[in-house]
Amino acid sequence: YFNSNTMLYLNGRFEKAAATTTTLYGASLHYGYAVFEGIRAYNTHNGTRIFKAREHFERLKRSAELVHMPFPWDVNDLIKQTYKLLELNNLKDAYIRPLIYCAPNMQLVAAKDVSIMICAWEWEAYLGNEQLQVCISGYERPNPKSTPIQAKVSGNYVNSILATTEAKAKGFDEALLLDGEGNIAEAPGANIFIEKNGRLYTPPLGNILAGITRATVIELCHVLDIEIIEKHLSVTDLKHADSAFFCGTATEIAGIRSVEEYAFPIKWSESIGATLQRTYKCLVLEKQNYEVII
Ligand code: PMP
Repeated sequence: YFNSNTMLYLNGRFEKAAATTTTLYGASLHYGYAVFEGIRAYNTHNGTRIFKAREHFERLKRSAELVHMPFPWDVNDLIKQTYKLLELNNLKDAYIRPLIYCAPNMQLVAAKDVSIMICAWEWEAYLGNEQLQVCISGYERPNPKSTPIQAKVSGNYVNSILATTEAKAKGFDEALLLDGEGNIAEAPGANIFIEKNGRLYTPPLGNILAGITRATVIELCHVLDIEIIEKHLSVTDLKHADSAFFCGTATEIAGIRSVEEYAFPIKWSESIGATLQRTYKCLVLEKQNYEVII
């Protein structure tokens, strides 16, 4: 992720990543009380462009608010600094990770004093480019009444690590987690869509992260005249589907080959997901003039 020359952004300054330090006496490390974002920049015909930068930094702000952290920064300025960070590190295609964490304090109280760091590195599609073999996780997504699931809170990701570890130990590529009501929710770091009879379905907001890629896919469906329905979906719905895919900033769009013993009948290349995968790539690379629509 970094070498001796890598620079990161820390509270208004650019510093060498290898030389920065942080406290061991803080609620972020001890309790997972921190919020973060995952953003991508693409090397487009118009130069390096951060995809949906505003949406991501606004979600970072909302995440901070949801866990009662101050957010004393200007979103426009953070976007500007992020472009500068990419330039300083000579990054054209990059994954960008802003993180807000607390000053030293071991109390179980809301942070008063926070820091922001932004780092970036080159990262391939998170789940690779092959269709995935997926299992239904033994872990549920966190109950939204226990922790704000709309916030990207660091501590929530222990659930994601557990589900991924379990899936890999069983020989699968990725996990799919259910919500507390037994409906399909999302992957450890991505949202899910399923295809049935030429329509797409995806779980509604409420028990899942409001993914920015999910919103983009829905917008693309409207543009491409693909019927998209947001509704609760059961494992049975999934195992009767024609095709399915995950989507997320790091993942982009990743086809699913099978869920446990059930293999999807439609070839990925002929699925709606594959069309969306191609269109998403065009969109992020600004290959066509989508701005007027999206
Ligand atoms: N769900 C979870 C749990 C995630 O961590 C992510 C990644 N941020 C997503 C869905 C996809 O969100 P986005 O498209 O905004 O990256």
